[in-house]
Amino acid sequence: MSGNFDIIIVGGGMVGASMACALQDSDYKIAVVEAFKLNSDHQPSFDERTVALTYSSKLIFNAIGTWSKIRAEAYPILNIEVTNQNSFGFTTLGIHDTDTQALGYVVPTRAIGSALHSQFTSQSNLDLFCPATVESIQTHKTHCDVVLIREQNPIYLKTKLVIIADGGRSNLLNQLGIRARKKTYPQSAIVTIIGTDCPHRGKAYEHFTDDGPLALLPLRTSDFALAWTLDKDQAEKLKICSKTGFIDKLQSTFGKRAGMFGSVGQRNLYPLSHSLLNTNAVQRTVIIGNAAHIVHPVAGQGFNLGLRDVGFLHETLTADVNVDPGDSRLLSTYSRMREHDTKRVSQFTDGLINIFTSEMFALKSARNMALSVINLLPGAKRSLLKRTMGIHGRQSKLALLGKYSES
Ligand SMILES: Cc1cc2nc3c(=O)[nH]c(=O)nc-3n(C[C@H](O)[C@H](O)[C@H](O)COP(=O)(O)OP(=O)(O)OC[C@H]3O[C@@H](n4cnc5c(N)ncnc54)[C@H](O)[C@@H]3O)c2cc1C
Repeated sequence: MSGNFDIIIVGGGMVGASMACALQDSDYKIAVVEAFKLNSDHQPSFDERTVALTYSSKLIFNAIGTWSKIRAEAYPILNIEVTNQNSFGFTTLGIHDTDTQALGYVVPTRAIGSALHSQFTSQSNLDLFCPATVESIQTHKTHCDVVLIREQNPIYLKTKLVIIADGGRSNLLNQLGIRARKKTYPQSAIVTIIGTDCPHRGKAYEHFTDDGPLALLPLRTSDFALAWTLDKDQAEKLKICSKTGFIDKLQSTFGKRAGMFGSVGQRNLYPLSHSLLNTNAVQRTVIIGNAAHIVHPVAGQGFNLGLRDVGFLHETLTADVNVDPGDSRLLSTYSRMREHDTKRVSQFTDGLINIFTSEMFALKSARNMALSVINLLPGAKRSLLKRTMGIHGRQSKLALLGKYSES
């Protein structure tokens, strides 16, 4: 089998699927190739996790028609309390410092998956190859040759542009000679749902401990999504220990300010890593989402950063009609647009982990001081708030469109 497309998107996970939906009104003929069946339990992008969406991600989802489909399962974050274990440093961020209804939203990844998939499977300019795996990409001056395997049979496609959104899960970047700076953190994140005896009223907590950060994100009335970073051995033990043992350890680490923890859901472990590419565009190929940058989940930024890739790539590809989407000037423009934001988030999240898990007295004092200073200085707080909400710097046209049509 064979076929010709303008754009092939490799990976129909959170970022690839969002990219496909963003291009729904374009004249491009698009193919999405996804390795796992859309509702499969093994789908790695849409699993047991919840993610914190920034306000700017909500705007992008609003613009591409996804927000109305996930709204019922999106829990607003109204305040965030940032604290440091065993010390005085703390800061709070709240909607009273903004003109929005929420700083962000907590949404199950499965809800995002089913909303995006229901949209793009009915998209008239899109062909879905699923389950199918992209095995090779060969780039040429005028087009790319892409080979997929579906049910053990090869399919040969031609396209003007390949968008790689495979989460860094395949060796396609190696094939293209693109190098990544990678590191593995000596920690894992335990992710689960925790119930308390106290309504949270939309408050999220980020608590830094010497082992790593612990985030509680508000869900239903008194439930939280917990993401707790710990060294690998400790995380393994807490994954399999008794429910009472788990709750006791959590309560003694976090304290009682969110109430007494009671119920605990299924505990899942995620290894944590960091990765940044030397380039996010080569001949007729552009790389977005986790394929381009993996960041520590400490500040809930990974997918939000990927969705900003989607916003700016959509803007670049739709700026003009009748353009060749693989044109090198277009891809260079996109690349320049994303450079600063990507580096900033990558360095910020990695820096947070280094500073907040350091044993050094000077760094411990500095982080206490930093949290207190942020709390006292309105300018510093506003800046942190903008970054937390994803509205620092220029917004993509999709985000602006989402704001315009916000209900
Ligand atoms: C514990 C944890 C908590 C997190 N919390 C947050 C949060 O609160 N907020 C936030 O913004 N981010 C968060 N993140 C980050 C977020 O989950 C990722 O940034 C996001 O999932 C990346 O999506 P992606 O589509 O780029 O990659 P993936 O989710 O990895 O999806 C890649 C897709 O490509 C497919 N694929 C791979 N190779 C091929 C191939 N060769 N052919 C075809 N298909 C292929 C895969 O099957 C998959 O569907 C968190 C991450 C972790 C680990």
